[in-house]
Amino acid sequence: MRVGHVLRGTSVVAATPIGVLAALLASGAVSALAGVAGIVVIVTGSAIIAAVQARDLAVLHDQIRYAGVMNEPTGPHAGALRLPSTAALKRDIDRLVRILTARATLAERLRQAEEAIVERLPDPLIVVRSDRTVERTNAAARAAFGDEIPAVLRHPGLRTAIDRALSQHVTQTADLSLPVPVAREVNATVLAMADPDDEPASRVIAVLSDRTREHAVERMRADFIANASHELRTPLASLIGFIDTLRGPAADDPPAQARFLKIMAEQAARMNRLIDDLLSLSRVELVEHQQPAARIDLADLVRVAIAGFEPRVQSRGNTLVVSVADLPPIVGDADQLSQVLQNLLENALKYGREGGAICLTASVAANPRWPAAPGVVIAVNDDGQGIAREHLPRLTERFYRIDQGRSRAVGGTGLGLAIVKHIVNRHRGQFLIESTLGVGSTFTIWLPVNSQSRESASA
Ligand code: ADP
Repeated sequence: MRVGHVLRGTSVVAATPIGVLAALLASGAVSALAGVAGIVVIVTGSAIIAAVQARDLAVLHDQIRYAGVMNEPTGPHAGALRLPSTAALKRDIDRLVRILTARATLAERLRQAEEAIVERLPDPLIVVRSDRTVERTNAAARAAFGDEIPAVLRHPGLRTAIDRALSQHVTQTADLSLPVPVAREVNATVLAMADPDDEPASRVIAVLSDRTREHAVERMRADFIANASHELRTPLASLIGFIDTLRGPAADDPPAQARFLKIMAEQAARMNRLIDDLLSLSRVELVEHQQPAARIDLADLVRVAIAGFEPRVQSRGNTLVVSVADLPPIVGDADQLSQVLQNLLENALKYGREGGAICLTASVAANPRWPAAPGVVIAVNDDGQGIAREHLPRLTERFYRIDQGRSRAVGGTGLGLAIVKHIVNRHRGQFLIESTLGVGSTFTIWLPVNSQSRESASA
């Protein structure tokens, strides 16, 4: 409560009665003693009223000043009001304060919600001020670019998009190849945050969506089509060539015809194998996300595969050593797992040593290298020339072959191990290739024995 307020209030309240009393004194209507006593009473009463009013006003003043301030709802002056007129005013101010506090709480909640949404957006987001400094980033941006955010903003494509969005208030998009912190393809959308009348915009939001994976998938798809067409075109060109020769120069040459027809049959068979493998691969990829549901006896499946394979092993003078332990039933796709066995056994025959040994073992997974969950392991081993270490990670890529000529000569399509990988993925299993040059290679698959099959096995 300020003294000045009290003095001013006292003078305003007391001025009129004192004026009247002074006039009465001057006219002699009241005695000097009564007049002085009256003035003292009027001044004292006015001072008390002014002091009470000043204090009440200070309370109201604080209430208005702190209305809507979240963590400090009252000021230094608080307490009950004494004057009836200020008490009525207080009720209205109380109502106003309640409304303002509710609005401030709502605004704070909305701000926190908006902050949480921006923070949790999966795409990196950077708010850039008109002076090109960073105002805000979200968690995805910090995780993706770390300390490199200023470097990212200096990318010429992004800089141009930000400049345009700031000056033209129009959303800009740009595809960027960012070299830092790791090479990636990014699609940037830059939105101006301003009224269209503002000139220029005060800030922009840059949303940087990582498109590296999509680009890689697109490239893979394009490469795959190019590779598949190329693989088919080679035997097709050879067939067309031989047809022309048979019609022309070799029309009357039966020995040459027989020779050419043999080659044509081989080329047609190669196209057939390629189309079969392409179809298998596309069928496996189509259902890769659906786990198989049938309960199968893996040991039985191995025995059937071996029985079909043995004649070819014998005709090449190889030996086949098979060891199948007591296996629990697993949940799987019998046709697809047969194809896995066939592809691995065929490769062992194709790339193994002529007259060498091929070993197939099937057992319950016990090695710590495999997942802790119950599983079975099937391994196909050969004693061929082996595979150099640098090729191992790429062998399951479609059309990847160490020696193109050798693969073609033995009837390979370059798709066998890609098919194996996708089938194993569908079964939520694992595929491991180990090899030592000059010693041989081992292709191992681990398949889970899930609870469903264990329950039905014990039932
Ligand atoms: P392909 O039809 O050419 O055999 P795969 O996908 O089955 O295609 O195998 C890819 C490549 O992996 C083969 O071309 C070959 O170079 C190599 N490879 C596969 N199995 C073996 C093996 N048992 N020993 C050595 N190399 C192998």
